[in-house]
Amino acid sequence: MKNADQSLRDIQHFGEEGGVVPVIDVAATSTFLNPANMEKVFQGELQGCYLYSRHSNPTVNAFGRKMAAMEGAEAALGVASGMSAIYCSIRQMMPEGGHIIASKTIYGGTYALFANILSQCGIEVSFVDTNQLAEIENAVKPNTRILYVETMSNPLLRIADLPALKKVCVARDLKLFVDNTFAPILVRPIDHGADVVLYSCTKYISGASDMIAGAVVGKKDFIEKLIDINFGMVMLTGPSMDPRMAHELYLRLDHLPIRMAAHCRSAANLAAELTKHNVPVVYPGSEKHPDHQLFKKIAASGAGFGGMMTVDCVTPHRAFQLADRLQTEKFGLYAVSLGFSRTLMSCPAVSTSSEIPQAERSSMGLSEGLLRLSIGFVGDDKVMAERFIKCYRSL
Ligand code: PLP
Repeated sequence: MKNADQSLRDIQHFGEEGGVVPVIDVAATSTFLNPANMEKVFQGELQGCYLYSRHSNPTVNAFGRKMAAMEGAEAALGVASGMSAIYCSIRQMMPEGGHIIASKTIYGGTYALFANILSQCGIEVSFVDTNQLAEIENAVKPNTRILYVETMSNPLLRIADLPALKKVCVARDLKLFVDNTFAPILVRPIDHGADVVLYSCTKYISGASDMIAGAVVGKKDFIEKLIDINFGMVMLTGPSMDPRMAHELYLRLDHLPIRMAAHCRSAANLAAELTKHNVPVVYPGSEKHPDHQLFKKIAASGAGFGGMMTVDCVTPHRAFQLADRLQTEKFGLYAVSLGFSRTLMSCPAVSTSSEIPQAERSSMGLSEGLLRLSIGFVGDDKVMAERFIKCYRSL
């Protein structure tokens, strides 16, 4: 089977006049030389025509085809954000509402969407520890439709056992939805049976922290449903991807494998140095990490263990102090988000996991003083490690 890197190499779209990259097709609407054909498109009698850019666009399609190739999937659709990818794909899969089982360690925005918004649409969500299969089994109801996990959870960096979860899904007739935002290139959830894969392209896929974008990856008929003229959640609620954004992302996919390798290398080097100096670092590449072997099982061989790590500072105050010193020492920037070429740091309990009630945070083991680090690759790894250790010791 081809890996993500090989699949990217094998896909090529040409621009007009043979350009080595596709052109940006900015047209919001397309001309029908035969007016009768437009009626056929609206009646669903004619497929594959460009009509209106909220429905489909050649540049957005080129990005979707490249994403699908990278993921080993039938199809993919670029959308306006990671949140719209999650929301639209869940609503599309569950038009009649019902029940979802979700991992309790997920991005706080996803948690809030599930707890506060999906409940308004007739969708109930149970949050469980998806690393305990018995908890999933106990939560299944007659109307459960989806099992929802993040490959590498935000911010606790637990790994989802995708092959084991798929078995539960097959036995219980559930669709496996996987947010792979933290692990593009490293893990291809479709290879492990995921039905729908979701991305915040805002993170590693962009790599420059300069845009908000998302993608849904899956079977062709599901992706087509999202843009159906009468029932498509993307078509009718409107978070389509702008073609200029699609073009940027199309080009950036080529260096995603190189960037991921650089993130993995810098993070592994830093984690090793911090461990030597007794800093309580949690990194999936460390043999002490509870899911180290599991990650090796589901990741592409030799892919590395990602660019994310955490350091427990126990209280938010200590986390702020450390972050402040690290920022002054030019180790990294105190900002939410991740996957940037430079290191980003944040304290999830008071930022991107603050949507999750405190009792839930503590039940999942999320320390109030956890500092989450998205390790960049700009700068010398040794110098960065020295700066971190100096700041940590001064606390
Ligand atoms: N999924 C995960 C794992 C995230 O961390 C985020 C944002 O931080 C999202 C989804 C939402 O993505 P976006 O900000 O592109 O809407």
